[in-house]
Amino acid sequence: MNALVAREFVHQPVGTRVVFGAGARARIPAEVDAAGIRRVLLIGRADPLQDVADEITTALGSVCAAWIADVAQHVPTADVRAALDVAARAEVDGVVALGGGSATGLAKAVALDTGLPVLAVPTTYAGSEMTDIWGRTENREKHTGRDPRVRPRTVVYDVELTVGMPAHLTGVSGLNALAHCVEAAYDSQADPVTVLLAVEGARALALALPAAVDDGNDLAARSEALYGAWLAGTALGSARMGVHHRLCHILGGTFGLSHAETHAAVLPYAVAFNQSVAHAELAPIARAVGGEHGVAAAVWDLGRRIGTPRSLAELGLGHDDALAAADLLAAHPVENPRRVDADGARDLLLAAHTGDRPTHSSTIHHSVTSSGDEL
Ligand code: NAD
Repeated sequence: MNALVAREFVHQPVGTRVVFGAGARARIPAEVDAAGIRRVLLIGRADPLQDVADEITTALGSVCAAWIADVAQHVPTADVRAALDVAARAEVDGVVALGGGSATGLAKAVALDTGLPVLAVPTTYAGSEMTDIWGRTENREKHTGRDPRVRPRTVVYDVELTVGMPAHLTGVSGLNALAHCVEAAYDSQADPVTVLLAVEGARALALALPAAVDDGNDLAARSEALYGAWLAGTALGSARMGVHHRLCHILGGTFGLSHAETHAAVLPYAVAFNQSVAHAELAPIARAVGGEHGVAAAVWDLGRRIGTPRSLAELGLGHDDALAAADLLAAHPVENPRRVDADGARDLLLAAHTGDRPTHSSTIHHSVTSSGDEL
């Protein structure tokens, strides 16, 4: 039986223009022009996207005033200073980011300081292109914040740029996107549209990722996965980040773990951590990912199916560092369905460090949702 509740929410539509389709990159010059950008700073990794970057610089012609090819993960502050210097010297009035979340992240950092508009051309499933979230890392600490200036004005999703993406990157980046859906779905302040986006994103990702990993050239699977990533990023852009994203930022910024791999390894345990208190919010995600034996176990199973790392130990995090990360996690309050205290943080980190399949009984005390669905 469905329980009815009195709704109360704030919905703020996001004004990003989205162009989606195979071959959409051909529209980049027109979209740059429509955004009023006359001198572009292109930020994009030379390797493995050299050909695409060359194609875009050629298409932009003299509008492309500068190009930063090398991009590091987690947006080191030194790279931001260098990029701001390049932008000022070339007198650019807009930034085009080509690549994964790292390229988008550096473009956002430039926008944060300068207010320059960003046009993003994502090539992974990170979803950063749809959010107002910026990040920078200095002295082994990752700082994040939200600012409307960093949200790209236009996003061009060209599924052809994801065809042939290695299976490993497909898997971990896809679970990074799934993490956005999960945390948006259980954010107590998420509005109904955001939840719909999150659930549909989770459905698309759970459906498409196994096929995209099995055959990296499957255009339909790639299209569905990128569609899911767009929805995931949009949901994250309208929701608050909980314990999962906070922990991944700590593990990336302070312990140097790779971003998407960390998301993939942590997600089942962050879900398990919240599952007992957010069972109603997770019920539609459970249906989307096939979680009749628990969402946490379903996410873990999906990870095994698509070959993602199963534990933080596998990513090279030592036991003592896992405990240190738990201390850091517990030290700062985070908006999360379940309060993150020292014991909970430690249990979460140790479970993610070990990588065992979360069991129904270990994470939830036989909860039944208001709609009668068991998680
Ligand atoms: P990434 O951008 O660092 O890319 C990982 C690797 O994949 C790179 O070597 C890159 O060159 C390569 N690559 C990219 N696209 C490829 C493709 N199509 N085929 C083959 N190789 C390809 O990794 P990421 O996971 O996309 O992004 C991680 C960064 O994004 C982190 O710094 C993270 O904090 C940030 N991020 C931010 C947000 C946000 O909302 N602010 C959201 C998600 C991620």
